[in-house]
Amino acid sequence: MSMLRSERMLAKYPFITAARDYLSMRGIAVDELGSVRHGRDVERAVERITEAVRRGEEAEIGLQPDEEVEVLSFAIALLLVASVGDNWLARRWALAESLRCGRFLEEERPDVVAELLRTELGIKVEPSPPAESEYGAYKVRVPHYLSLTSRIDALEWKLVNRVVRQGWVYVTPRELARIAVEAIQKRILGRYEEARGIPLPDSLSEVGKRIRGILAEKRSFEAVAGQVSEKYWPPCMAKIKSELIAGLGVGHFANFALAAFMITAGYTTEQVMAMYSQRSDFNERIARYQTEHIAGQRGSRVRYTPPSCSTMKTHGLCVEDGRLCPGIKNPIQYYRREARREALKQRKEKRSSSEE
Ligand code: SF4
Repeated sequence: MSMLRSERMLAKYPFITAARDYLSMRGIAVDELGSVRHGRDVERAVERITEAVRRGEEAEIGLQPDEEVEVLSFAIALLLVASVGDNWLARRWALAESLRCGRFLEEERPDVVAELLRTELGIKVEPSPPAESEYGAYKVRVPHYLSLTSRIDALEWKLVNRVVRQGWVYVTPRELARIAVEAIQKRILGRYEEARGIPLPDSLSEVGKRIRGILAEKRSFEAVAGQVSEKYWPPCMAKIKSELIAGLGVGHFANFALAAFMITAGYTTEQVMAMYSQRSDFNERIARYQTEHIAGQRGSRVRYTPPSCSTMKTHGLCVEDGRLCPGIKNPIQYYRREARREALKQRKEKRSSSEE
């Protein structure tokens, strides 16, 4: 029997296929999940979601000794998150769950890791033979490596900085876990999409309300975000913001550009924080530190300005190659020009209405 079918493995990696069949194998109907019999499973599900909402990447969901509770609570959490239908919540919860799995993977035997990643996530990975282990404990096929690291900005992940031999990229156990986290998050989000069509049993509707309440409390930042007017924003910044809200992966440089743009345009650090809070991996402590750093309130006390249009182009962040912004050299110039034009227009309108 595959190692992946043991209850311990299902508890650690509840996204895998065997865990998915768990409810039917046990003859548990979805309608039953809110019953008194499953009280502990439901509470653990709420705990998983709450921890993810409140602490994001730093969430410690852990592993409880009762394996059945671990598997069922994941399934219930999935149903609850799907019933709320909020993409930010889904991404944040999926991220916290996938990071949890990544931590367990780092401790797992290499053959188990390779089997799990190959069979469950379709990642072509092998433990390195002893003669090659100096390059890294695992090797991953180049196309798989490239597609799973495309959202990671750090230079050490670029292929030119890796040992590559005969179509394989060598990685350490920690790096492999990092790659796996990307794939697991995608898998959980796929399950979320499937579960969106499943109605929440009546017995869980009160619990669903609790989750909405926890979400509303966390997202109180949005009230501030709503005050932010984007009328004068250049297309590049409007695009980064809309991708951020849609829950798409926005890279480190784009985040920096948006924050520096907002600060220079006169937005407060709280308003920038409100914008960041719409990221699924929002971490208030880190976001505050970075925003205050960009605003010159920390460290070198230098206030950063937004990158120039040519730098934005180099990073693939300019929209339509600048066609919509003739003569503009920096996104902030666009913002100021539009704001000035609007002020002039309003002044003219005021003057003509007083003359009438
Ligand atoms: S030209 Fe400049 S302001 Fe306009 S979209 Fe490109 S980077 Fe942004």
